[in-house]
Amino acid sequence: MNGSKPFQQMGERTPDADVIVIGGGPAGVAAALELKARGIARVVILDREQAIGGAPRHCSHSPFGMREFGRVYFGPAYAKRLQREVLDAGVDIRLGHSVVELAQDGAVLVASARGVETLSARRIVLATGAREKPRSARLLPGDRPVGVITTGTLQSFVAFHGIMPFRRPLIIGSELVSFSALLTCLTHHARPVAMIEPEPEPLAWSAFQWFPRLFGVPFHCRATLADIRGRGRVEEADIRLADGRLLTVKCDGVLLTGRFTPEAALLDASSLDVAAGSAGAMIDQDGRMPNPVFFAGGNILRAVETGGWSFREGRRVGAAVADDLAREPCNTRAVPVTFADPLKLAVPAMLRPGGLDRPAFCDFQLRFARRVRGRLSLHLDGAEVWSRAGLWLPERRVLVPIPGAAFEASRIAFHFLETD
Ligand SMILES: Cc1cc2nc3c(=O)[nH]c(=O)nc-3n(C[C@H](O)[C@H](O)[C@H](O)COP(=O)(O)OP(=O)(O)OC[C@H]3O[C@@H](n4cnc5c(N)ncnc54)[C@H](O)[C@@H]3O)c2cc1C
Repeated sequence: MNGSKPFQQMGERTPDADVIVIGGGPAGVAAALELKARGIARVVILDREQAIGGAPRHCSHSPFGMREFGRVYFGPAYAKRLQREVLDAGVDIRLGHSVVELAQDGAVLVASARGVETLSARRIVLATGAREKPRSARLLPGDRPVGVITTGTLQSFVAFHGIMPFRRPLIIGSELVSFSALLTCLTHHARPVAMIEPEPEPLAWSAFQWFPRLFGVPFHCRATLADIRGRGRVEEADIRLADGRLLTVKCDGVLLTGRFTPEAALLDASSLDVAAGSAGAMIDQDGRMPNPVFFAGGNILRAVETGGWSFREGRRVGAAVADDLAREPCNTRAVPVTFADPLKLAVPAMLRPGGLDRPAFCDFQLRFARRVRGRLSLHLDGAEVWSRAGLWLPERRVLVPIPGAAFEASRIAFHFLETD
């Protein structure tokens, strides 16, 4: 905690719920379902939107649901399935409720059409997801015409208003979500003029090996956006290619895909800990934050994983919270997991002695900041306990099993030795 004063706390008042889950996307829904399945009586989901479902509700494409429901859904149908599941389980769902601040004792300040109210619970689960970086945060050059949007905005236009805002967009990025953006364009009568990626190879390697080529969309690696021009709306853009040449493309929009960041505004507003590197909620092996009243799961931990992954993570955090409710909040001192460039993040970012017998996280999730070849190793109290050498690509998930001895260690560190 950074010690700043929170809003009015609940004092001795009986909590309104056992658990409040903030965010009704896959992670929050899974946490709530697991809590109910484990007999926790009063579970509330608060979501600022008017329906359960989170990001998939805005995605008029598949695949969603395979891992958790054993069948493939389009985003809106998957969101409806999530809504049905929580209703059937007896979760108290409050929609159109934006959480604006959290107090250290689990009091939650909520704004809705009814006004502002304070709710409280014995534990809070944060599942507020992630968002793509908008134009301003990417420091893109050029004019400021209409037509420069993120994939999330495109999906909302299509899903809720039946509008495809351009016909010939330039797509920036090559993550899985960029692939989803391309699909949405192609299935709604827009033909992207090109896709570009600043890295030497596509970030979602398997999808990009064949997909843009199949549909005749030029794909350029090591390419950056040099200029956007347009009066009123986007008219053309300059791309700086790998060999330094400038390529001008006629386009009527620029689609900014990926570069996700955890939706951590609430943590900042509430003096709750944000992990260096991931820029998301700092958690231990049980999904518990430094203030043990708070837990977190899903894309608020690290941007960005799939819906199925977030659902599974939410379920495990829900199970951990159910176990945790049977005892006093665990307040033992956590040991930070340290790392340095080229590693970008580690989740969990700390381990806590005296955690639950069945931790929610059995692996460290790591990401590299850039493409690098070398040897990654894990050290406990100075002794190496795990290593692997190879080529590591940015934004790819790297899983390292958490050894039992790590929960006893007083120093936990990842090291990296670059070999070229
Ligand atoms: C464009 C796009 C395409 C995608 N395509 C796929 C795909 O094809 N397949 C796949 O498996 N995954 C896909 N994903 C990823 C998938 O959507 C996410 O992994 C998943 O939704 C993450 O779940 P979550 O619960 O962590 O967060 P989210 O789904 O983002 O849910 C977070 C919820 O929290 C709520 N919230 C946030 N802040 C507050 C607040 N202060 N108060 C109240 N409520 C709040 C939001 O309204 C939202 O409902 C896609 C994502 C995007 C953006």
